[in-house]
Amino acid sequence: MCGIVAAVAARNVVSVLLEGLRRLEYRGYDSAGVAVAVNGTLKRLRSAGRVAELAGAAERDNLSGKTGIAHTRWATHGEPSEKNAHPHVSGGIAVVHNGIIENHEAIRARLRTAGYQFTSDTDTEVIAHLIQEHRRQTPDLFAATRAAVVELTGAFAIAVVSEAEPGRAIVARQGAPLLLGIGDGEMFAASDASALLQVTRRMIYLEEGDIVDLHCNRFEVRNSNGEKVERPAHLSELTEDAV
Ligand code: GLU
Repeated sequence: MCGIVAAVAARNVVSVLLEGLRRLEYRGYDSAGVAVAVNGTLKRLRSAGRVAELAGAAERDNLSGKTGIAHTRWATHGEPSEKNAHPHVSGGIAVVHNGIIENHEAIRARLRTAGYQFTSDTDTEVIAHLIQEHRRQTPDLFAATRAAVVELTGAFAIAVVSEAEPGRAIVARQGAPLLLGIGDGEMFAASDASALLQVTRRMIYLEEGDIVDLHCNRFEVRNSNGEKVERPAHLSELTEDAV
C-alpha cells in the first residue's frame, strides 16, 4: 500500500509534503514523486528511488509552492520507473493515486480515440486525462474530478491539483484510506494520520465515496450521491513520538 499527501496553505508546503512521504515510507513503496502548482505552472519531480532522493532533487531544484501533492508508489500497473511514478499529468492537471482502476483499459481506449497521448503504463494516467476531458464540458476542477471519479471502478484514493487554480486541491476516496488534516488557515490530506501529525492533530476520516474540495481556509465534502455532508473532526490521540 503506497501513500498520498496533499497540502493547500499560505506557505511553502514542499517540506511538509516530503516529510509526509517519509512518515508513510513504512507502508512500502518503489518510487516517489511530488508536484506543486505555482503561478500558472505545474512543477513535478519524480524518482524511481527513495524519498530521500526525491528530497535531494527538490532541494537542488529549489522546489517551492503553496499547493501540492506527493506520492509513494507501489506499482500494480507498469514497472517501477520514473515514467510510471506519480504524479501523472494531463494538460495542467496533476494526479496521484493509491489503488487500482479496474476499468482503465476501456477508459484509455476511449481517451486515445479522443486524441489523448499516454506516456506511462499505469492505470492512474487515465484519471488525469479523464478529468481533463471532463473539463472541456465542466471547467470547474471539483465538478470535473467528480464526473471522472463517478466513471471509475476499483479501489482508489486520489489527490488532484491544477496549474490554473493554485490554492485548491481535490481529494477523493473509494476503497482506499484517506483523511483530512485541518490546520490553522491550511488544509492537508494523507493516507494515514502519521503523515499529518507534523502539521495538525485535528483530523477528519473520510467515508467511502467522499470527494473533498480543499482550500487553505475552507473545505467542502460531498458524498457519493453528490450531497454536501459534514464529517466529524476529532483530535488525534497519537503523539509524534508514538508514530
Ligand atoms: N495502480 C497505480 C500504479 O500502478 C497505483 C499503485 C499504488 O497504489 O501505488 O501506479
